[in-house]
Amino acid sequence: MNKRKTIYVGGVPIGGGNPIIIQSMTNTFTYDVEKTVEQIKKLEEAGCEIVRVAVPDMESAKAIGKIKKRISIPLIADIHFDHKLALASIDEGVDGLRLNPGNIKKREFVEEVVRKAKERKIPIRIGVNAGSIDRNKYKFATAEAIVDSALSHIKILEDMDFYDIKVSLKSYDIKTTVESYRLFAQKRDYPLHVGITEAGDLFKGTIRSSVGIGILLFEGLGDTIRVSLTGDPVEEVKVAKEILSSLELRRFGIDIVSCPTCGRTEVDLEKLLEEVKEKTKDIKANIRISVMGCIVNGPGEAKDADLGIAGGKGEGIIFEKGEIVGKYREEELVDRFVEKIKEFVEKEEE
Ligand code: SF4
Repeated sequence: MNKRKTIYVGGVPIGGGNPIIIQSMTNTFTYDVEKTVEQIKKLEEAGCEIVRVAVPDMESAKAIGKIKKRISIPLIADIHFDHKLALASIDEGVDGLRLNPGNIKKREFVEEVVRKAKERKIPIRIGVNAGSIDRNKYKFATAEAIVDSALSHIKILEDMDFYDIKVSLKSYDIKTTVESYRLFAQKRDYPLHVGITEAGDLFKGTIRSSVGIGILLFEGLGDTIRVSLTGDPVEEVKVAKEILSSLELRRFGIDIVSCPTCGRTEVDLEKLLEEVKEKTKDIKANIRISVMGCIVNGPGEAKDADLGIAGGKGEGIIFEKGEIVGKYREEELVDRFVEKIKEFVEKEEE
């Protein structure tokens, strides 16, 4: 059970058993308002629920107000080194801050930010990375060192009665990351933002993030997630959604599964799958459908799906919960399938 406290980023509740929220981060120059807004809109459309922007300079901090006016999801400012950028971001109406107090030189600077965040009810994520821990103090970036480092930063906030905190303890190393979150969860009840840093390109990053985030979420550790990939952040959102739906933590519309094909496959299954994906993309319903490569085994292997389609030689079948409900010529198969899905959804909604 998720016993962590609830905080709010913009209007979005995080922690306390609320749905796990998908976050991503833009890779445009934040001061370029047009490009940043354009990317955020694409992220929103893909299903991103909170977005973070890098604020490396004052021009970027000053752009926050303009960006916020044109987007509808909460915006978080990512701050390193310069506390003035955090103060300016708050003035611009940002919904949350991500800071690493370890890289802000003076404690009084951090305190200034915390005071202002408290006044405006802005949450702060303390983001500790294995790479950013104090190497004079900790020789190795072990889970203990990462957690200890996070706790020392959190203490600055707690000493000021500031508890609107979210925490991330990321590391490239999956084992260290998992151990860090496990250890931290025993010590504090702040919501957890989880992810694997420097995960890699689309292929490698998807696997590494799925393994790392998957383990954590399976253990109930995680309230917001970010998949880090080198490339288009829209892909991060798509992967995050798949991780959440594969663990059945959230549903995002039609879940399409397909068989791996084998020597019995008598249809171009990739083509059939693409056609099904395209023709069902606008149907909003939390159902599972299967696209299978043979008529003989397809319905049985996909018994768990609400509806399924199996292609054969020049014809195919449609089945509902494993029972065949129609046989059609190849040309009309997918259209009939789409009709059946719509009927099924209407029936479910009654
Ligand atoms: Fe092979 Fe048919 Fe199973 Fe697909 S459904 S893997 S084609 S036996």
